[in-house]
Amino acid sequence: MKPRDLSDHVAYEPGRGIEEVARELGRDPSEFVTLSSNENPHGPSPAAVEALQGAAEGVNGYPKVAHTDLASALTHRWDVDAAQIWLANGGDGAIDYLSRALLDPADAVLVPAPGFTYYGMSARFHHGEVREYPLSKDEDFAQDAGTVLEAYDGERIVYLTSPHNPSGSTIPLAEVERIATETDERTLVVVDEAYGEFAETDSAVALVEGRDGFGARDDVAVLRTFSKAYGLAGVRLGYAVVPAEWADAYARVNTPFAASELACRAGAAALEDDEHVSRTVESARWAREYVAEHANAHVWPSDGNFVLVEVGDATSVAEVMRERGVIVRDCTSFGLPECVRITCGTDEETRRAVETLNGALAALDLADDANARANSEVSDR
Ligand SMILES: *Cc1c(COP(=O)(O)O)cnc(C)c1O
Repeated sequence: MKPRDLSDHVAYEPGRGIEEVARELGRDPSEFVTLSSNENPHGPSPAAVEALQGAAEGVNGYPKVAHTDLASALTHRWDVDAAQIWLANGGDGAIDYLSRALLDPADAVLVPAPGFTYYGMSARFHHGEVREYPLSKDEDFAQDAGTVLEAYDGERIVYLTSPHNPSGSTIPLAEVERIATETDERTLVVVDEAYGEFAETDSAVALVEGRDGFGARDDVAVLRTFSKAYGLAGVRLGYAVVPAEWADAYARVNTPFAASELACRAGAAALEDDEHVSRTVESARWAREYVAEHANAHVWPSDGNFVLVEVGDATSVAEVMRERGVIVRDCTSFGLPECVRITCGTDEETRRAVETLNGALAALDLADDANARANSEVSDR
């Protein structure tokens, strides 16, 4: 017995956590700060923690009312019908539901490169194919309709990430509208707004609903998560907002009880906690500016809770920073071996990250100089 041919499938590489790194280096976890997975440095909303504790006693039951309550809260938040909210086990789970609902075997999806790995993984799980459109580093990862449409070749789903991970760039809604208009009728444009709370741009829900001067459409869906701004990555909760026309497909594709009792209760409480979200967003905006101003390296403007930094040899820089207690994301696995992605921390963590980054860059520069000298001595001989 064997599983099916999985040779095209790649394992997801998460940012490395404190426990893992501390164990590997034989050090105490408290010496480290982890700024590698875009988690919320302020923790979860205190209201969500209270809700989780309160819900613990009721987890012997299936989450029926909790699911309905959260969907209804989100219905108000977005002013859409409850059926249009597809709750799932993280934003990743919502991507799976879209794959299940849309992909026939051999249908393709079009994804950004560099980009979020799970779009392609999910498509492959559902016997789909993956094609890419390039976002160019030399053009600061600019996102527009032209770039996507040039690569488009009838794919069933086109993924846009706004703000984009790992660069932080965004795409204007008018460009999303053009992509949706100029692609086939059967193509769904998914706008992944995992970092939407941190951006100044409006949500693409305006396109789904035909608001703010846009015509309503049945070919745009929006992805949202509680993992980032709401600080609930550990409970796994996210959702898609889909057009009313085919929203009923959810009932036929979802895994029963798609989001857990704990996730639903925590999510509903976090949604009400505006203070926690504002604080999170404000500190991320401060951190983005701080890194851009003080890092001795190129930092791309970002609308997310992270910044992409050009450091030369990302693997070496990430390693030196890790030895000095700051864990950042080496973007080699994104196809950017000269960049690291640094999550916005608390003010103190962000200051420490920049100081550590600058120290690592200086140390590696010195090492480079020493190597160059050693090499020239060798060749002199
Ligand atoms: C974090 C993230 C998600 C969703 O993550 P979940 O934890 O599964 O909700 C989706 N898209 C992008 C681009 C992300 O960075």
